[in-house]
Amino acid sequence: MKKLHIVSNRLPFSVVDTNDEPSLQPSVGGLATGMNSVYKDFNGKWIGWSGIASDEQEPSKLLKIEKLLSHEGCETVHLTSDEVESFYEGFCNNTIWPLFHYFAQYVDFQPGFWDAYVAVNQKFADKTLEVVDDGDFVWVHDYQLMLVPEMIKSKRPNITIGYFLHIPFPSYEVFRILPWRNHLLKGLLGADLIGFHTYDYERHFLSSVRRLFGYEITFNEIHIDERIVLADAFPMGIDYKKFEDAALRIHQTPLKERSEVHRELEKFYLMDEERRLVLSIDRLDYSKGIPNRLRAFGRFLENHPEYRGKVTLVMLAVPSRNKVIHYQRLKSEVEELVGGINGLYGNINYTPVWYFYRSMPFDNLVELYSMCDVALITPVRDGMNLVAKEYVASRINQNGVMVLSEMAGVAKEMGEAIIINPNDEEETEKAILLALEMPQEQQQKRIRIMQERLRRYDVFKWAREFVKSLQRVNKLQRDFLAKKITPEVQDFIIDKYKTAATRAIFLDYDGTLTGFHGDPQEAMPDKALNTLIDSLTAIQQNVVTIISGRDKETLGRWFEGKKVNLICEHGVWLKRFGEEWQMLANASNSWMPVIRPVLESYVDRTAGSFLEEKNYSLVWHYRKAEAELGELRAKELRDELTEFVANHNLEIMEGNKVVEVKTGGINKGAAANNFLMNLDADFILAMGDDWTDEYLFRELPASAITVKVGIKHTSASYKLETVEAVRKFLGILAKS
Ligand code: UDP
Repeated sequence: MKKLHIVSNRLPFSVVDTNDEPSLQPSVGGLATGMNSVYKDFNGKWIGWSGIASDEQEPSKLLKIEKLLSHEGCETVHLTSDEVESFYEGFCNNTIWPLFHYFAQYVDFQPGFWDAYVAVNQKFADKTLEVVDDGDFVWVHDYQLMLVPEMIKSKRPNITIGYFLHIPFPSYEVFRILPWRNHLLKGLLGADLIGFHTYDYERHFLSSVRRLFGYEITFNEIHIDERIVLADAFPMGIDYKKFEDAALRIHQTPLKERSEVHRELEKFYLMDEERRLVLSIDRLDYSKGIPNRLRAFGRFLENHPEYRGKVTLVMLAVPSRNKVIHYQRLKSEVEELVGGINGLYGNINYTPVWYFYRSMPFDNLVELYSMCDVALITPVRDGMNLVAKEYVASRINQNGVMVLSEMAGVAKEMGEAIIINPNDEEETEKAILLALEMPQEQQQKRIRIMQERLRRYDVFKWAREFVKSLQRVNKLQRDFLAKKITPEVQDFIIDKYKTAATRAIFLDYDGTLTGFHGDPQEAMPDKALNTLIDSLTAIQQNVVTIISGRDKETLGRWFEGKKVNLICEHGVWLKRFGEEWQMLANASNSWMPVIRPVLESYVDRTAGSFLEEKNYSLVWHYRKAEAELGELRAKELRDELTEFVANHNLEIMEGNKVVEVKTGGINKGAAANNFLMNLDADFILAMGDDWTDEYLFRELPASAITVKVGIKHTSASYKLETVEAVRKFLGILAKS
């Protein structure tokens, strides 16, 4: 693999200024740990902002900092204080953050914020473009830099780009609110691989892509002209061993050497053996559900007087974004709630909520994790929530219970926690009780399973898996390019064509010679296509056959008088030029009365879809239906018909936005070979776009030149991207 570079808003160092001399302190956060493990292995740079506004520091000092960072493999992007304000505090934290966390009421739609976001993203992209070499890999991180992938890709298409979103991707109904939604999506789609913490976020993203851009999506592959973009879920892990080792070390520290926090916690437990600690740790952010948590805890004390004096909630709220009004209001609300509970249930010997508004050093955090009986983690929305994972990793005695919000990404991996809806205070209150009363064996059973999983899929594995997928998508792209008809390949085909005495040319119709229409009856050949067919068929050596799933009446009418052969309904019918229609295969339509009502019920239930009836097949079209509903119904229909189809020698064919039921054993491959029996062709060309054409590609003699239109996987030997490219290619043949 070539070099792998990381791009993120912040570099993995903070700058400290002691005695007017700047120095660097490495970040200990999860991302820095995970990335350090990959980017240095791949000889790359880390591109980001140092955290210092360029207009608030002397140029000489800035230069010094930049040099220090450069020694560590970091490339600095300089931001002014205005940019930090409008880009970071503005668009990132006042627009994207609330919207993607479903706080639409907090979203500030300021065009000035957006302009700053574009300009700053461009700065990151430009810096990256200075650093990368052809063929390198780049991994862009998070919601601050959603436009960067496209900004890089448009300038340097041969850079493979990964992008990871560390926050939720919201449902389309929420995402669509944003005036700049298309720009953001387009920005992301510059990446070759887009990663999310959970499948739900991936699903929401794909749904937005489908609805806003209408790109074709198969499973998690998005097909955009010449490119494939992959979306996938990679739940981010933690540095498990670091937490486990720290908890073990702290546990073994002699009493006298223990920290003040440690001693306080022990004192609390010593007062009464029935005492319990419940832990709450987050940044003070409205997405974290802190007021709900406090209200639920208040309810718990109200309804369970037996626990008053025994259970204390340790609440660590880390200051965050305190310039933003919603965060200031939240702080007041939380403090009021804490005061209310302590005033109501506290006494000289007992404080129900220990509230800390600060951040704590790593060791103290681990002390809290390893000493509190219950972790109460109740965000109303959270991309992942690493605190939950850190709590589990620090439980070296394998006890402890976690109450976890279903709205946190981490809940998808932690089925053994007590899962709650954070908006349901009654449920949360009951969960607190359940957690406090859970027998030890139960606790251990659950914690062990979670620990096993977290140990296996740690942050290093997460990073490696992402990079592996990035390499895979790069290979996918290369495979596509390998089948591309380059000028050399074209010359080779033309040579073969020129020297042949009889040339059999099989051309699929829809999606190959012409584009798709909402109403298939409107897709008749246009003037340019008629001219092209005329020029191809005017050449005496050429035997041109249109081979299609369409009914014989339509194609017969459209190509009347043209010097072409027609194979219709996937091979049921053949009409040689100048002759009558003949049946190639023994098809029956006695099954139609049974299947027709089933398909009709799908037409009734799926607005925009309709039924087409051919002589020997029935086709349900859903191109004009709402995209996701259409896909869903197509799947339902397949499931519903499976048994009947198997018992009646029928086949279900899925074309482009159609489900077709037809007699089994009939396909374009068999029909073309049948046709070739009476033709001594020394040049065979077949072109088609959907999987019904794959029969043709597979079953024709190995010497045939087979061309897939589009970029999906194929057994054809070559690919062309579009109908226009097909027409151009055939035009060249006609002139050769
Ligand atoms: N954390 C910290 N100092 C503190 C409290 C928390 O460094 O005083 C760390 C904690 O260990 C965790 C991170 O902050 O790794 C919080 O990550 P999480 O995913 O839970 O929430 P986020 O703040 O990213 O929304």
